[in-house]
Amino acid sequence: MKKILSVKNLSVSFDTYNAEVKAVRDVSFDLHERETLAIVGESGSGKSVTAQSVMRLIPMPPGKFVNGSIVFDGEDLTEKSEKQMESIRGKEIGMIFQDPMTSLNPTMTIGKQIAEGLIKHQNMSKQEAHNRGVELLKLVGIPTPEKRIDQYPHEFSGGMRQRAMIAIALACNPKILIADEPTTALDVTIQAQILDLMKELQKETGTAIILITHDLGVVANAANRVAVMYGGKIVETGSVDEIFYNPKHPYTWGLLGSMPKLDQQGEELQAIPGSPPDLADPPKGCPFAARCPYAMKACGTQMPAYYELSDTQKTACWLLDERAPKVEPPEFVNVGGAKVNG
Ligand code: SF4
Repeated sequence: MKKILSVKNLSVSFDTYNAEVKAVRDVSFDLHERETLAIVGESGSGKSVTAQSVMRLIPMPPGKFVNGSIVFDGEDLTEKSEKQMESIRGKEIGMIFQDPMTSLNPTMTIGKQIAEGLIKHQNMSKQEAHNRGVELLKLVGIPTPEKRIDQYPHEFSGGMRQRAMIAIALACNPKILIADEPTTALDVTIQAQILDLMKELQKETGTAIILITHDLGVVANAANRVAVMYGGKIVETGSVDEIFYNPKHPYTWGLLGSMPKLDQQGEELQAIPGSPPDLADPPKGCPFAARCPYAMKACGTQMPAYYELSDTQKTACWLLDERAPKVEPPEFVNVGGAKVNG
């Protein structure tokens, strides 16, 4: 599949009063046509800053690109002016957020909000944009779209607002859709419906998706590939099967352990003890060392290299060095009946 986005050695920092916070550190990944890449991690791992950097939504200052490139359609987005980005955002790259209420404009009808992008980027007349808006609302499963199009966001339920936001994001057939925790604010049934809808629409439109989430459970059925972030770095990346059935990084083990299993209802979830590192003063060695039960001397002083385990799986952990003790993943690292990518 054709590569449409290539992020290379990206580092993004924020200048604060006291220090430079190194939110994203030397991150590299590719995105291909028609695929869904999930970027997973706890809050503060750098996943949302990475996604917002692709859209150039980081306020600069205090944010800044320290290093690296974000190449889309052969051009480096880190070098674009704000004006150039305006013609890329919405048209080439769409974004949906966790809380549609804060990103939808409460004073405009849903129809006007869909029409804005169509008139600006596709040169449609008001009537054409209105007609396309009705089609899009129908496509995302909103009943009686001819009536709903003239309503305001507060007249929609939470799930319907998220569907409307997907309609707005997809209005101009973007090549990439970035979905930042798109289902976190929704209840479980609606979550599943929205994820299914995104998959269906991807089949129809071919849009590549970057799915940002803290919840590995969301990833199992929605993504093709996964990048696990911790302390501003990608610590492990692989296909969904590799991450669920052959994870090699202790942090990935921790995330899998904190995921509810279908066959273990009522059992306590395994939380990862401790908290993420302070990125104003990031650790010299492995970012996970302070919380890792397997940490060795080298972990505290030297950043682990990436070990290539397959064409698609890469893991940054000293346990994969041939001199390291052999460690098996804990028992709970087993998807236990979760259906992967089905
Ligand atoms: Fe744990 Fe060391 Fe691997 Fe980091 S490099 S995850 S501290 S074993």
